[in-house]
Amino acid sequence: MPVPAPIRAAGPTVRWARRGLTVAVAAGLLVAVGTGTAVAGGTPDPSPAPSSPAPSSPAPSGSPGPGTVAPAPDPAVPDGLPAALEDPSPYLRQVSCDPVAKPGATALGRLLVATYPGTSFGVGRACGADGIASEHYEGRAVDWMTPGRDPLGAARAAAVLRWLLAPDAQGHPFALARRLGVMYLIWDDHIWGSYAAEAGWRPYATCASHPDPSWDTACHRDHIHVSLSWAGATGRTSFWTRHVAATDYGPCRPADLNWAAPYATANPVPCPARTALTAPAGAPAVEVALVRDSGATVGPGSTGPVVTAVQRALGVDADGQFGAATAAALTAFRAAHGLPVGTTVDAATWRALLAAAAAPPTQAGALRPPPPPAGPLTLYRAQTLHYGSTGAAVRALQVALHVTPSGWFGPLTQAAVSRVQAAHHLPVTGIVDAATWLALGA
Ligand SMILES: [Zn+2]
Repeated sequence: MPVPAPIRAAGPTVRWARRGLTVAVAAGLLVAVGTGTAVAGGTPDPSPAPSSPAPSSPAPSGSPGPGTVAPAPDPAVPDGLPAALEDPSPYLRQVSCDPVAKPGATALGRLLVATYPGTSFGVGRACGADGIASEHYEGRAVDWMTPGRDPLGAARAAAVLRWLLAPDAQGHPFALARRLGVMYLIWDDHIWGSYAAEAGWRPYATCASHPDPSWDTACHRDHIHVSLSWAGATGRTSFWTRHVAATDYGPCRPADLNWAAPYATANPVPCPARTALTAPAGAPAVEVALVRDSGATVGPGSTGPVVTAVQRALGVDADGQFGAATAAALTAFRAAHGLPVGTTVDAATWRALLAAAAAPPTQAGALRPPPPPAGPLTLYRAQTLHYGSTGAAVRALQVALHVTPSGWFGPLTQAAVSRVQAAHHLPVTGIVDAATWLALGA
């Protein structure tokens, strides 16, 4: 979930919020609480923060203390797991738009719900909906709902985190998290990343400053967020297959688009580092949104801000729902730009959309309505010319009238202007006014 801005004043942290983390300490984790680097904008910060012991904080009055709830059961572990296991996943940032739930994410959600009846989970989310990078857009993040303010919910969360992060019988740390391809976890104001495991749990964004219940979802006090590696999301890690999966770096974005195409095949090579593309300063809002969302694959059935950006560019009702009208407009746009028939906004379509937004249109189907044609007289149509006028405007007028372009408004020019006025049923004055300029095509 996104972390709302702005930052507000710090407040106390309640005891229930520590319970899951206390159990994690018992499982051998370092816990960073109250210090270290906040996670800007909710995007996981791959750099480790310094770790420190968890402080104890007094329980608020009326709050149940630890030990009043029976331990929650652990999820089942498959038989026959190999002794070897996956390395902790590197940070594989969300780069594509494909929110269909991936099989490994769905299987993990179902396992948790089967273990803890009455809970639920979600995976996919409309691309761009959070305003930050999110593996939900790629169908590889699971939000498992468990209320941390409820003793049972907190006990279940503690059990899941302990289960994921405990060492196995051979002493491999974070054993099941690695076998499932867990990339990072967010729970109860804190984030744990496999790519920064030595730093343990780090403060998540500004949540320490927002203990009030209105922040429970943003600060993950009512659900555990689990982002999975591509190998974990596609269900190819040893927890599911009993075969250790190699790191799969997933799709890589091209240099000229901000988003990658959806996952297609395993990729053993890290993606090149890319900087985010932005529209030129002063670009219209339509172009700004197009550049921001460029490359994000959407099509019929897609929803969210990316769809809205495409709709605005195509000039159809921008309701964020990719329906029949959007599909029809896209079909026409693709045809006008020489693209194969289709209703998917793919990389080729994005490039055509960006080109059309950045340049004046030259053909049907372009983005903007055509500006009035700029002819050689357009520059001068605010001027009034008459006998005796001189200069570039007169010269341009004379060219248009097929009079020798002397730059001086004499009798020949006056006569030619009068002929044009008569032909267009204008008052024959011999003076070039706005109506005459219009008649001349300015
Ligand atoms: Zn989430």
